[in-house]
Amino acid sequence: TTSLVWFRDDLRVRDNPALLAAAADSAAVALYVLDEESEGVRPLGGAARWWLHHALEDLRGELDRLGIPLLLRRGAAAGIVGGVAAALDAEAVYWNRRYGGPERQVDAEVKAKAEEDGRHAESFQASLLHEPWRIQTGQGTPYKVFTPFWKTVSELDFRKPLDAPEPTQRFRGRLPESEELDGWELLPRRPDWAGGLRKAWTPGAAAGHELLEDFVDGALADYPQGRDRPAVRGTSRLSPYLRWGHLSPFQVGHAVAARRGANHGEAVRTYLGELGWREFCWHQLYHQPLLAERNLRPEFDAFPWERPGRKRSGNDGGASPSGRNANRGGPSAAARVRAWQRGRTGVPLVDAGQRELWTTGWMHNRVRMVSASFLVKNLGIDWRVGEQWFWDTLVDADAANNPASWQWVAGSGADAAPFFRIFNPLTQQAKFDPEARYVSRWVPEYASPEYPEPIVDVKESRQAALEAYQALREDN
Ligand code: FAD
Repeated sequence: TTSLVWFRDDLRVRDNPALLAAAADSAAVALYVLDEESEGVRPLGGAARWWLHHALEDLRGELDRLGIPLLLRRGAAAGIVGGVAAALDAEAVYWNRRYGGPERQVDAEVKAKAEEDGRHAESFQASLLHEPWRIQTGQGTPYKVFTPFWKTVSELDFRKPLDAPEPTQRFRGRLPESEELDGWELLPRRPDWAGGLRKAWTPGAAAGHELLEDFVDGALADYPQGRDRPAVRGTSRLSPYLRWGHLSPFQVGHAVAARRGANHGEAVRTYLGELGWREFCWHQLYHQPLLAERNLRPEFDAFPWERPGRKRSGNDGGASPSGRNANRGGPSAAARVRAWQRGRTGVPLVDAGQRELWTTGWMHNRVRMVSASFLVKNLGIDWRVGEQWFWDTLVDADAANNPASWQWVAGSGADAAPFFRIFNPLTQQAKFDPEARYVSRWVPEYASPEYPEPIVDVKESRQAALEAYQALREDN
């Protein structure tokens, strides 16, 4: 008999319960669907497409070694999975669960169709340590604050990682049609902007495991301090591997937790707390599928944020960081956004971060916070504009972590930083990059006369943001 295993954000053969089930006592065939058609499914950004191309090549190699063929298809997933299962006459279809709204809708359709056709359909927990519906407050509602969420969750055990399958059967029939990966054109052609990505990253499971080992043997020990220093390799840089499922949180969590002894207790706790933030973001997305579109705190709907090509979203004529600026003939919203995207705001830490992002597809967490805050609070731009830019340029662009973090920075999210706590990008630089090693790596001209003045006055724009926030509170 044959089983179909449908790969999604879990591009690995180890610790993959769906793959294990498919290969247990039948011949497994694997399928990946590039779905840009199903309603509501967010199309991948450019950097993500680049990563996916190499990730699928890597997965194909890993599956080859197990004698499991990988089929590639493009289109609306529900129809394709059903069709491939039928063509294979598969007895069962397996996958690991996803938690976004439109994705769950697609999965429900696949399940219904499979069962209608008399196939066994089964899904597994593989991408989150804890299922969102299992973690609730005493009142049976989702947690809105991280600390109590993590207190509850961190006391729970999570399972050990699973081995890769050892298939005993091979598929011997005729394989349904598969598309060519090159035909999907996931890689940029002209201009080829991916040189910096190639230099910075090796997508795939083996590279992920190597990074993980290096991290637990090295930077983990100093993680509580090192993680705030963008100039050093103080963090694990595992985010794209977790995003694409080359590594599971179970694998990362256990590898880190195994270092609890040897005076690493605090480092392990801090790191697991960051995995906890990942869980918290995904639980938010599960409960609020429109996380990337809607303010979690609706009072922010009236905030006079600007977007290029659009009038201010708020309706009052009160102060807004950018409105004020525009009144003085300052740069338009479009010009401010462009300067931010290109790392030409005249604020060194922000520019360094944005250039790191553009070149490597990744940005240090401390700098993400500062740069996002600058866009939203000093430049007065709607957080969704920044979220979309990150979505397009990050190799770890994540459907939950990205919008949840943007809402956290903007003040509109769950357990968000209070709006009035506005990062000062200059103080942040002095504190976390005191010798300007990070800044001079990415903005070598920052101390020279060529470097522009800040596009907005940091203090004035901060004041204007606070006034806009005050007006919002008075109106509510
Ligand atoms: P480490 O410090 O080594 O952390 C380990 C892992 O924990 C990370 O790989 C990640 O999976 C998780 N993690 C760490 N911090 C956070 C956090 N604050 N929220 C959620 N998970 C976290 N992370 C993404 O994975 N994808 C995104 O699209 C993304 N967008 C962000 C946007 C903004 C505006 C901000 C402020 C943060 C964003 N983050 C995002 C969170 C965080 O910046 C990255 O996860 C982190 O920088 C990745 O580097 P690392 O793997 O070295 O992290």
